[in-house]
Amino acid sequence: MKYYSTNGKAPYASLKEAVTRSLAPDGGLYVPEQIKNVPDSFTENIQDMTFQEIALEVAKTFFGDDIPETDLKGIIYDTLSFDCPIVKVSDNIWSLELYHGPTLAFKDVGARFMARMLAYFTKQETGTINVLVATSGDTGSAVANGFLGIDGIHVYVLYPKDKVSKIQESQFTTLGNNITALEIDGTFDDCQALVKKAFSDTGLNATMRLTSANSINVARFLPQSFYYFYAYAQMKRLGMADNLVISVPSGNFGNITAGLYAWQMGLPIERFIAANNANDIFYHYLRTGTYEPRQSIQTIANAMDVGNPSNFARILSLFHNSHENIIKAIDGNAYQDNSISQAISKCYKDSHYILDPHGACAWLALTDGLQNGEHGIFLETAHPAKFKDIVEDAIGTALTIPKRLEEFINGKKLSIPMTNRYEDFKKYLISQQNNAGRKE
Ligand SMILES: *Cc1c(COP(=O)(O)O)cnc(C)c1O
Repeated sequence: MKYYSTNGKAPYASLKEAVTRSLAPDGGLYVPEQIKNVPDSFTENIQDMTFQEIALEVAKTFFGDDIPETDLKGIIYDTLSFDCPIVKVSDNIWSLELYHGPTLAFKDVGARFMARMLAYFTKQETGTINVLVATSGDTGSAVANGFLGIDGIHVYVLYPKDKVSKIQESQFTTLGNNITALEIDGTFDDCQALVKKAFSDTGLNATMRLTSANSINVARFLPQSFYYFYAYAQMKRLGMADNLVISVPSGNFGNITAGLYAWQMGLPIERFIAANNANDIFYHYLRTGTYEPRQSIQTIANAMDVGNPSNFARILSLFHNSHENIIKAIDGNAYQDNSISQAISKCYKDSHYILDPHGACAWLALTDGLQNGEHGIFLETAHPAKFKDIVEDAIGTALTIPKRLEEFINGKKLSIPMTNRYEDFKKYLISQQNNAGRKE
């Protein structure tokens, strides 16, 4: 399968090229040339299949021409080492819990898959592949843990000093091994600028192999379609799979776009709801047809604080730029912080279910938008304990911290302090490269 760029000015790429480059040379996002339908027999028998079996079938429609089935199976079974269960919350409302992976957030699925696919495509090459990633919190932990212990790949996570929560920080600064955390004296934008500059530095790229692992990479984005099929399978087992509405807490819109791909492949979903926090650029687009990116605003659902969602380009390409078709498939809503806190409180009071701030947005949009006769699923994208203070304030009781999170929190911080000057960053990278070279 070939991949084209949403900007339409770059040559078609192979899967390997799309995965190792992330971004197309014209600055666009890679999109698969075609979206094949899954066989009818697949959706008919899906309730009898395991998560891994379902994922393999879905993966074969995208990656089957490029990766032999046994290798693809290895990547998938290794990636999906945890479950994504459906949990009933109230009448007609279910939570798809995507937080049972190593960093307790849904980004684990895409990050683990991408790490394994990148390793697969580069295993014949000599020398280390260096993954650079800038993070404002959650991406860093998912990517670092996704790549942890993968041979031939070293990850550098750049994060702004004092600007990510202690829990988030602990998830990528305590790992060691092939993961290096760089604590930048600056903002998230500075971190991103450093990474961007490194990628465009031809001298540096001639010395070391650099790649990114951001959420626009096709190997991070497409695997997210797996759990939409799995959610459907679980609803079918319950006899509740008709008139399904799925509500997705959205920031960069990778997650919901993967759902839309699943739907295009033949997954019987009635419609989607895109839930926004105060960064309501997409909601505004749904209502007006005008897309107006803005500076992001900080909210309590901070992984959704995105002012110019990258995957909007993929949604446009999927619907051939038709606002009319987009609003037929996707509904939306947006919520301020106080509504999000109240939602956490109300859902706990009414249903004894604890939401995290992101899931809370999706739950709210679902309860506001669900119509008679519809069955609703919202995506619970992070474990509530990752946002302990906000959630405890809202529900008025202490949370139990999962063991995995506890281990991160008690781990030793290993990050390396650094200025926000590019010369310092570059010098450091080259020195690491030289050290690595000497060891070999
Ligand atoms: C990243 C993230 C989101 C937003 O997902 P997108 O794919 O960027 O729309 C929602 N919730 C959590 C917890 C996240 O980490």
